[in-house]
Amino acid sequence: MYSNTQLYIDGEWRDAQSGKTLAVTNPATDETIGHVAHAGQADLDLALAATERGFNIWRQTSAYQRANMMRQAAALLRERAAQIATLMTQEQGKPLAQAKVEVLGAADVIDWFAGEASRTYGQIIPARQQDVQQQTLKLPVGPVAAFTPWNFPINQIVRKLSAALAAGCSIIIKGPEETPASPAALIQAFADAGIPAGVIALVYGTPAEVSEYLIPHPTIRKISFTGSTRVGKHLAALAGQHMKKATMELGGHAPVLIFDDADLDAAAKELAAAKFRNAGQVCIAPTRFLIQQGVYDEFVEKFTAAVREINVGNGLDDGVTMGPMVLGRSVDAIEAFVQDAIAQGAKVTTGGKRLTDKGNFFAPTVLRDVPLNARAMSEEPFGPVALLRPFNDYHEAIAEANRLPYGLAAYAYSRNIATVNALGRDVESGMLTINHIGFGLPETPFGGVKDSGHGTEGGSEAIESYLETRFVTVAGR
Ligand code: NAD
Repeated sequence: MYSNTQLYIDGEWRDAQSGKTLAVTNPATDETIGHVAHAGQADLDLALAATERGFNIWRQTSAYQRANMMRQAAALLRERAAQIATLMTQEQGKPLAQAKVEVLGAADVIDWFAGEASRTYGQIIPARQQDVQQQTLKLPVGPVAAFTPWNFPINQIVRKLSAALAAGCSIIIKGPEETPASPAALIQAFADAGIPAGVIALVYGTPAEVSEYLIPHPTIRKISFTGSTRVGKHLAALAGQHMKKATMELGGHAPVLIFDDADLDAAAKELAAAKFRNAGQVCIAPTRFLIQQGVYDEFVEKFTAAVREINVGNGLDDGVTMGPMVLGRSVDAIEAFVQDAIAQGAKVTTGGKRLTDKGNFFAPTVLRDVPLNARAMSEEPFGPVALLRPFNDYHEAIAEANRLPYGLAAYAYSRNIATVNALGRDVESGMLTINHIGFGLPETPFGGVKDSGHGTEGGSEAIESYLETRFVTVAGR
């Protein structure tokens, strides 16, 4: 029940004009389960012409109507959640329950941005003369090009898509070639909700070819990218060269600060779930666990016990709580990180190896006493590996938390009010969650600082980057 995926251009599903396709693999079985159309320049030209027409229709559609269509798409997504989750698990690997949460979460994102559509307020600015009225208008920036990865095939798209549609922009999405069918089901819900032809396009292809063509193109006015810092810097430079607005959601290397006075049971349980969700392929995943010396051994023990309860397998099977990694090369990369850390002196408390010959399975792994010169302590290990090391005092913990150029997410557990208050100011990260796991709601900011990028994809500021502020002043003569 897995289907092939076509390109969605100008309100129609179509093959690439060249007829070219790419194979899609189930990462749990290594089987080819379908194909996805591979767009070339001729397909992108069609999408660009359609997005220009779509923008002219959509910006003249009232915010009220736009919001109604978006809410209808959200309702369809909820109705279809079980079926879409099955597609996602087959192509991406995550357990079915997590795939369903992602689909239902996407419906919430759409509803939230639908509300934002009618709140794009401008201002009236007090004038210096009685007969003058000074106002600002918030208008859609224009057609958007979005580039999204395979770790959350729907969630990564829906935040960009919903913000763009709410603002009145049209959008061309270059989706993840590895996981194309669930994004197509998302777009189908919008098509069925009546979004006019040309407003949304979904294409797949060779990522670098698509981005190098779309970003400089005069039709495109804004870029949004989610992926690695390396690629993000390249695309942000290209956007800058062509004076396009850009939102960049890039890599992270999240520190976790566990203080002597923390609730260790809650921390171990909650962090084990957060670390190994989606097999650790999460930009905000807790990664560098820094634990105060007095509770180090106790936390290592509790955390390891919680991790041993993770049930790895095919995400379609009952009771599985962690699936395979999406890409075969990611398993190689994780294996190399673990071997290197062990060579530098780290000790494995659980996991540490590949699990089967078939499928991209790597055991949930906990490494303790990881030295700072282990590669994984500085490079993003985008997978199921937790790195644990002790610290002595607050200042040492903060210095280590802020050592890397990344600044996406951070986690902390402490019952001391002074510590808790200071952390928000001292930890250099776009998001910090203390004494619970609280990231990723549509109504709260989602974004990084430093090399983790700029802009937010949640909260009241998210729609801003899809709008431009125009100033109009009128004298009543
Ligand atoms: P990668 O850097 O090759 O690719 C990351 C993503 O960017 C992929 O979706 C890819 O299709 C896309 N991409 C690559 N080059 C591009 C280009 N020139 N133009 C447009 N898109 C391009 O890395 P990978 O091996 O596929 O994934 C692993 C790394 O990617 C991780 O280390 C992690 O940093 C990053 N990643 C981050 C997120 C996130 O949520 N921030 C998601 C997936 C991957």
